[in-house]
Amino acid sequence: MASAGSGRPGRPRPLVVLGLDSATPEHLFGQCLPRMPNVQKLLAHGVHSVLTSADPPISIPSWPVMLTGVDPGTLGLYGFRHRKDFSYTETYGPTSKLPVPSVWELFSAAGRRVCTIGMPPGYPPLHLNGISISDFLTPAGATDWTYPPSLATELESRFGRYRFDVTFRATERRQLYRDIVQMTQQRWAIAEELYQREPWDVFAIHEIGVDRLHHAYTKYFDPSHRAFVPGNPLEHVVEEYYAIVDECIGRLLAHVPEDAVVVLASDHGSMAMSGCFCINAWLAEHGYLRFKTTPKGPTPFEKCDVDWAHTTVWGAGGYYARLFYNIAGREAQGIVLPADVPALREKLTRELSALTGPDGAPMPVRFLDPVTTYESVVGDPPDLMAYFGELKWRSAGSLGHPSLYLEENDTGPDDAVHSYDGVFAVSDPRSPTGSAIAAQAIRDVAPTLLAIGGLPIPRHIQGRRIVADVPCLTGPA
Ligand SMILES: [Zn+2]
Repeated sequence: MASAGSGRPGRPRPLVVLGLDSATPEHLFGQCLPRMPNVQKLLAHGVHSVLTSADPPISIPSWPVMLTGVDPGTLGLYGFRHRKDFSYTETYGPTSKLPVPSVWELFSAAGRRVCTIGMPPGYPPLHLNGISISDFLTPAGATDWTYPPSLATELESRFGRYRFDVTFRATERRQLYRDIVQMTQQRWAIAEELYQREPWDVFAIHEIGVDRLHHAYTKYFDPSHRAFVPGNPLEHVVEEYYAIVDECIGRLLAHVPEDAVVVLASDHGSMAMSGCFCINAWLAEHGYLRFKTTPKGPTPFEKCDVDWAHTTVWGAGGYYARLFYNIAGREAQGIVLPADVPALREKLTRELSALTGPDGAPMPVRFLDPVTTYESVVGDPPDLMAYFGELKWRSAGSLGHPSLYLEENDTGPDDAVHSYDGVFAVSDPRSPTGSAIAAQAIRDVAPTLLAIGGLPIPRHIQGRRIVADVPCLTGPA
């Protein structure tokens, strides 16, 4: 690391946040750690733990939960896609405009110099007291992806076209790996360059490549995946990629002052996908969903000719099923009377609870009611959330498949789903030792970051500051 203090009299200790999307404790703290000397150095001073993700454990809402300290219902974020005004088909995506401020905005408002790269949701880029680069959810073709705006052109003239993400649900895996590595190395080279511009109080970078690696290669490296073949040429791709991320971390940290606190976190973990369960086909089989014309061949739900006048429930696909009731007075062609919702819900959960997998064995289904799960609920919450097979089965919204169960994802090849277990580490060079602590909750990260930075914790934050035997985590909040 660079020299101690780096001429920062009277200023708080620098804070660096490294966000590795989907990094798992099994890999980061275990299997890949021998090839990660820089992460080993971080873990040698401070504490590290499993970070238990949000419900649902998806990048959105998990990153904003981590970075605001409030739950998904309070943020009105239930996944990547949201319904526009109770429309059956029109959707919108999450943006950086949240109902509560992120830690970056709080640090910035307190006069701290802040630089964030790719922290979700990051588009449009936040107008910080410093620099902000938007995230992997940046719309294709957007030119307004940096703050200040002129930075985009400057960076692209030096580093080439900026890669927010890769097309990871692709069949060709060799080129994809090169794309992931190139994207990662470009982002961290930019980070290294930006870090050297001034003595940042807060500096944060998010890497989506880790998540893409897990999605695209789990079947090659994870023996628990049904399609894993021992000895395949990509068997060690996970160690190889994590080692590349470690090199990037090492190069960035070489510029960071010696007294900086470094926080490393992921928003969720990753695990082998078992398959997809076709929720809408099941709803149709059980009389909840009707079509005017039966879908022939795989058809996205949005393209199906739904008979809304005879439909009571439909679902959206993704890592879990968002179930919606077709409510009279709310949906354009709603038929379910609000008074009939409890009976409908009882029948639906009872029938879905009897679900079996393709092998005939019971498939566990977990239901979450947003109203009772979250401290408050805004936006377009599903009427009911359903997790299949402990999240190892995705929910497919499309119809017209030969079976209720698909081996592959209906939106493109994908080997992985998300687990609750992400990673968390606070590396404090003033701590002589490094140790593992009990699992921490994701919404406790925001107040912890504020406490490390010496800022008060606003009352609206639902999480609680993590306290541990590390100098930066024991001082006055
Ligand atoms: Zn994620």
